[in-house]
Amino acid sequence: MRLSLVMPCYNEAENVRAMHDAVETAFADCGFAYEMVFVDDGSRDATWAALKALRAHSAQNVRLVRFSRNFGKESAIYAGLSHAKGELVTLIDADLQQPPALALEMVRHLEAHPEDDCVAAFQEQRREGAATVFLKRGFYALMNRVTEIEFVQGASDFRTMRRSMVDAVLSLCEHNRFSKGIFSWVGFQTHYVPYTARERHAGSTKWGTWKLFKYAFDGIVSFTTMPLRLAAFAGAGAALASLVYGVVVVIQKLAFDIAVPGYATLVVLLLLLGGAQLFFMGILGEYLAKTYVESKRRPIYLAREICEPKAARCEEEAQ
Ligand code: UDP
Ligand code: MG
Repeated sequence: MRLSLVMPCYNEAENVRAMHDAVETAFADCGFAYEMVFVDDGSRDATWAALKALRAHSAQNVRLVRFSRNFGKESAIYAGLSHAKGELVTLIDADLQQPPALALEMVRHLEAHPEDDCVAAFQEQRREGAATVFLKRGFYALMNRVTEIEFVQGASDFRTMRRSMVDAVLSLCEHNRFSKGIFSWVGFQTHYVPYTARERHAGSTKWGTWKLFKYAFDGIVSFTTMPLRLAAFAGAGAALASLVYGVVVVIQKLAFDIAVPGYATLVVLLLLLGGAQLFFMGILGEYLAKTYVESKRRPIYLAREICEPKAARCEEEAQ
């Protein structure tokens, strides 16, 4: 198998057929064998029925994985990568925002450039509000500053990787998966190509503002311990400042006999330091919670049903 196209689907009932057809059209004359790996991430609509119909009616090259519940896109990506059999693997959304024709161009690039291990697409222009764009840009800039790995502005999960890179990504078996960071952390030679995201074919995005914030925060916690060091620096800074202030107060009293009006200062300092302490305790708790979750070593996803291409029946599997 030359290529596997991995597509995470969550409530994409109206998109999967169109997506499948778009891939068929784009790869009609490609001249190599490919498969489509659809991962149904515990959809609540008729996605699974649509996928089963797809597999039954047309294709010999459709592989299906159905989760026991919604585990999130990161888990769906992991499952798709682990079930993909291709020498090359493309990650692409199932909502037609990312053109399948570009996936073929990525394959052609890897064929022509043996030195590259991955071709990733980045959005030159985002079709999002100014505030979202600003926040996302800020996030990438922050990540580049505080982590050792490099994040490319606008880079998405839309990419084609060689088997060696796919295996490297799969070898990272952490539970808190932040794919953008993982792709960057494993290294390998990545070539970036620009693309413009299209409108969704049907349905709506699953990423609200709050979910995006949580995702960004998880990304920071997953890839840097900088916030913890920040707490130590802040503590040291506060201690130093109080020392200096203490000396100033003593000198004022002894040399100039200035009485120190204390009430307002006390209240402000108390609230400031109390707030800072709680804030840093919260950050500490966040790391502790992540460690706790990782230490349980639960599986990244649970599959309820897996359908191999061509196979007469679907196996039920719990992994
Ligand atoms: N997705 C998923 N699980 C989720 C949320 C999303 O598998 O919990 C899939 C979704 O079906 C789509 C892709 O991830 O194929 C990207 O999601 P979406 O289009 O909502 O994100 P956006 O394109 O707005 O960033
Ligand atoms: Mg989308």
